[in-house]
Amino acid sequence: MLAKFYSLLGSDLAIDLGTANTLIGVPGEGLVLNEPSVVAIAKDSQRVLAGGCAVGQLARQLLGRTPQSIRVVRPLQDGVIANFELCEAMLRYFFRKARRSRWRTKPRVLVTVPGCITPVEKRAVYNSAHRAGARQVLLISEAKAAAIGVGLPVSEPVACMVCEIGGGTTDVAVFSLGDEVAGQSVRVGGDAMDRAIVDYLKRTYSLRVGISAAEQLRLEIGSAYPLANELAAEVRGIDTAGNMPRKAVITSEELREALADPLRTIVDAVKQTIDDTPIDLASDLVDNGMVLCGGGALVRSMDRFLSERTGVPTRIDEEPLTATARGTLVCLEHADRWRLSLESSDDN
Ligand code: ADP
Ligand code: MG
Repeated sequence: MLAKFYSLLGSDLAIDLGTANTLIGVPGEGLVLNEPSVVAIAKDSQRVLAGGCAVGQLARQLLGRTPQSIRVVRPLQDGVIANFELCEAMLRYFFRKARRSRWRTKPRVLVTVPGCITPVEKRAVYNSAHRAGARQVLLISEAKAAAIGVGLPVSEPVACMVCEIGGGTTDVAVFSLGDEVAGQSVRVGGDAMDRAIVDYLKRTYSLRVGISAAEQLRLEIGSAYPLANELAAEVRGIDTAGNMPRKAVITSEELREALADPLRTIVDAVKQTIDDTPIDLASDLVDNGMVLCGGGALVRSMDRFLSERTGVPTRIDEEPLTATARGTLVCLEHADRWRLSLESSDDN
């Protein structure tokens, strides 16, 4: 009986479908896949390239050295599916890759979605996952998966708080007795920060740079709060006036100025969540604090910044990039224990 139980579990997948990265967990095996959410396509046909090099890590390796005829694109934007067909192709490839042993049945999949997702966008997740080969599609909010992933006591009669800053969205929530008692989900994350950097460089340096150069600059010197030793880095772009290639040296102070708007949106989301938390639970937050996760949590001094601006002590999870995926896997393994109310494609 036990063996049968496990083989059934083995056909299930926990999927953290992120704008920047997709992670897949298999019950009993742990996280088995962690790849960028990108697909390589032929420029003229909008078709996914044939062969094994078209999705995820392999597709990203093509970035920068692709012939003119190939483009590397992201099927998700701001937390939701922007290109339905490419998302389906990406998921089909990831499902196959995650499969260690042969499934006897098609997998049941548990997929994370941001809190701000619309019904139409949800339908796109159901359809993409079904068409990519899933038998049943269950959805879980990113905030809940993240809270469980970072090990918060979501089922206890106290309040605990999580803030997940991904590439496309930021999800903030307070949990108590297994339920979300307050939450905010905004379409601001690492990508919005990079767009803000592009705008800043154009405005103040008359320099046009690509979005990946902006991300590179943010990874090198980006910060949310003044640093003990401020940093500087060189960026290359095109002069907007003369259309000539040019370099500029940018400091971490300047980059904080560039990031002010997206950072303010994140602070507002945290503050609003605290405001919406019932007063006796809100007082728990002062003691229990907030845990940060998602790749955006790695922006320098983000914890200090959010602590100061919101008054809630903040710490960063040890492995912020895998927190949501770990939580999703735990949910799939112990759905009963977490009193999950999951939405299933069967209900729709
Ligand atoms: P998603 O869940 O939306 O796919 P992730 O949680 O995987 O997003 O985080 C991706 C984001 O995290 C990207 O915007 C990336 O630039 C950012 N990121 C990853 N590592 C770092 C780092 N060391 N410092 C700052 N930002 C980082
Ligand atoms: Mg994520």
